[in-house]
Amino acid sequence: DQGEEVEGAQVSSVVCGCCETLEDNSHIMSYGACDQLVIGELKAICEEVYDQGEEVEERSIDRSGWGPFMPECVVCPKTVAEVQAVMRLCFAKKIPVVPRGAGTGLEGAALPVRGGVVLDVMQLRQMELKKDDLVLVCGPGWFKVEVNNMLEKHGLLFGPDPSSNPSVGGMAATSGSGLSTLKYGTSRENLVSLQMVLPNGDLMETKRLVRKSSAGYDLTQLFAGSEGTLGVITQLAWRVHALPKLRVGSLISFKDVGAAARCVVAFRHSVVPSLARCEMLNGPGMQATNKKFKMQLEEVPTLFLEFQGDNIDQLMEDARNTEQMAKKHGCTGYVLAEEGSKIDDLWEARRGCFFAAKDWNDRPEADNVYPGDCCVPLSSLPDVISQTEAVFNGCGLPPIMCCHIADGNFHLLVPYNESERATMMACDKKAVELALAAGGTCTGEHGVGLGKMKYMKAEHGDVHVQVMRNIKKAIDPLHIMNPGKIFTMTDEEAVPSMSTGEVSAVVDGPSVAAAATSAKL
Ligand SMILES: Cc1cc2nc3c(=O)[nH]c(=O)nc-3n(C[C@H](O)[C@H](O)[C@H](O)COP(=O)(O)OP(=O)(O)OC[C@H]3O[C@@H](n4cnc5c(N)ncnc54)[C@H](O)[C@@H]3O)c2cc1C
Repeated sequence: DQGEEVEGAQVSSVVCGCCETLEDNSHIMSYGACDQLVIGELKAICEEVYDQGEEVEERSIDRSGWGPFMPECVVCPKTVAEVQAVMRLCFAKKIPVVPRGAGTGLEGAALPVRGGVVLDVMQLRQMELKKDDLVLVCGPGWFKVEVNNMLEKHGLLFGPDPSSNPSVGGMAATSGSGLSTLKYGTSRENLVSLQMVLPNGDLMETKRLVRKSSAGYDLTQLFAGSEGTLGVITQLAWRVHALPKLRVGSLISFKDVGAAARCVVAFRHSVVPSLARCEMLNGPGMQATNKKFKMQLEEVPTLFLEFQGDNIDQLMEDARNTEQMAKKHGCTGYVLAEEGSKIDDLWEARRGCFFAAKDWNDRPEADNVYPGDCCVPLSSLPDVISQTEAVFNGCGLPPIMCCHIADGNFHLLVPYNESERATMMACDKKAVELALAAGGTCTGEHGVGLGKMKYMKAEHGDVHVQVMRNIKKAIDPLHIMNPGKIFTMTDEEAVPSMSTGEVSAVVDGPSVAAAATSAKL
């Protein structure tokens, strides 16, 4: 590397393949070595730095099935100042940095595909509850469940509710949501402000802690969902909500997923003020739930509803209204639980769908579970969800569908073994094509990571992807923040393959066999 010195980093004068400028080409350069000298400097900044053993291996995977991708080292800063110092050093040495929360991601977003440093944020656990403002300010290292337990003591609740128990930093970084989006919104709607450490170590706040502000670009929303590619979230300010005193639940069965979805569309078009959760499992989802959680529920597509509020008459009226609507849409069963706590076991089972999927399948060695995450407009939900289920069934891979259905968001959990990978990927491609053709997205809440990169251009088009690349270059000119995620900086850039783990210039997609299967669908 015989490049010139730019802000402390070596940058070569090779002309960039995508922007054809000399100044702006640093993102296609190779990275600096994270050698023992650098690790020594990191150890001088942070007490906990690991370059071998379990601590490193654990961070080479997440829940996605991608990897392992080994980092050169893991750093666990305890203060924001330490994060800044780590970033300054890595910026000067041009070393990749991958922020990591709880590692529950389903798309490989937290994996260090270009090596370098994994920056584990789980020890950043400052917290201040501004109760009068209904705002919680906290570090990214708190788990969602911990935050809710703490808030409950104050009669408050944390709105976004993924089925998993991630870090609140990871939730913001992936724009996650979950079971209560209908009433409380996604992470995005609940974020008031973010504190960010930028790639060069600079510190900034995205907004004052006010409900609304028209003062310039909305940087909170830019950094939310950026999956660690623009900086490290070191503090978050969240809106919190009054904890409802009463809950009522109901279960509604249908003969097929299309009928259930049509009923949900009717709910959304009506005034059902207390409806806070509306989830769906399909037949295999109910089967897997029965098997895993030793239940005896009817194994047909089923809606799980929860009504929340402080007035039991309102809750019961809303429950009765949904029952009437469900009957009009051909429901085959309706069970009401006047005390919401009676359906808590069912919510736990609904949350456990991913693990139930792993145990459900009788096929030998079906130890991988593919997680689909499409989201479509309500108007096309009944058709797309039925067609998607049919695509997988048609290929002999019956999917478990567990859906945040009132948001138009449906997860497919498909257990598969290695010999079925090509077919599974062909079905995945078809499912995403169906969602995109209906005006939907390839990911409603899990993020892009590695798994959905191949769909970015189809979903957004060339101009949108180029704008994202330009934003990335402006904030992270050396391309050190979580490189190789969401999009590549050029169309030629190498990306890893899920099946082989190798990094190649071809975007991971169906293999030749998978492409042949895809053509038949
Ligand atoms: C069983 C199961 C159920 C799930 N259900 C849901 C669901 O209902 N809804 C949902 O939205 N998701 C769900 N997920 C996916 C996952 O839990 C979410 O994507 C979660 O928000 C990831 O948070 P994490 O702390 O685990 O982040 P990680 O997996 O550690 O990281 C995810 C991404 O965020 C970035 N990141 C993490 N922390 C920071 C930070 N402080 N600063 C900058 N970037 C950061 C990482 O670089 C990476 O790109 C589920 C996962 C599982 C295993």
